Amino acid sequence: MSAAAIVKAAQFAAEKHKNQRRKDADASPYINHPLALASVLAVEGGGETPEVICAALLHDTVEDTETTAEELAAIFGATVTGIVLEVTDDKSLDKAVRKEEQVRHAPHISPEAKLVKLADKICNLRDILASPPADWSADRKRAYFDWAARVVAGLRGVHPALEAVFDGLYGRQAELL
Ligand code: NDP
Ligand code: ZN
Repeated sequence: MSAAAIVKAAQFAAEKHKNQRRKDADASPYINHPLALASVLAVEGGGETPEVICAALLHDTVEDTETTAEELAAIFGATVTGIVLEVTDDKSLDKAVRKEEQVRHAPHISPEAKLVKLADKICNLRDILASPPADWSADRKRAYFDWAARVVAGLRGVHPALEAVFDGLYGRQAELL
């Protein structure tokens, strides 16, 4: 897997998410979020494999767009597709059940999927601190922080430096308005 595959994954995600926006007041382009995960892993983390970076770029395509596992497998192969599927929620389940399933599954997923999930929680806490969903109360933001911490508890040991980044963000709850 090469630099070309990473560029291809970024371009594929940009195309799939092109009509979606984040939930912040400015409705930022959705692709900023997968790019932020890739940056957490490749720039702040360091040493991650191209497969993990590709999976980070693609992590919300199956969950949030019409992308299928077969489509990903044909372009990016079984390893990247497998990581993406490990971090994809089952949308047939009720939202509250899905959130509990993430907590329950976290310790049992592969180290590669743990890295993507840890980066996802880091990015979402950063977003909630800097550019939160427009209509969220402080209580709702705190509830998200606490749920994310329960998921991350099941990922620990996979990357202590990035876990410390998460802990630093979690410690900033007093800033939530
Ligand atoms: P959502 O799952 O609806 O939204 C959070 C998700 O939105 C994130 O995981 C992220 O997912 C995505 N997202 C997009 N833009 C942003 C942004 N700017 N900042 C952060 N995340 C962003 O919300 P909840 O996690 O709160 O889950 C809903 C659950 O909460 C339901 O079960 C509901 O019943 C309950 N609820 C709780 C309330 C409370 O006060 N605690 C109030 C109302 C509902 P991704 O990375 O996949 O893009
Ligand atoms: Zn995400």
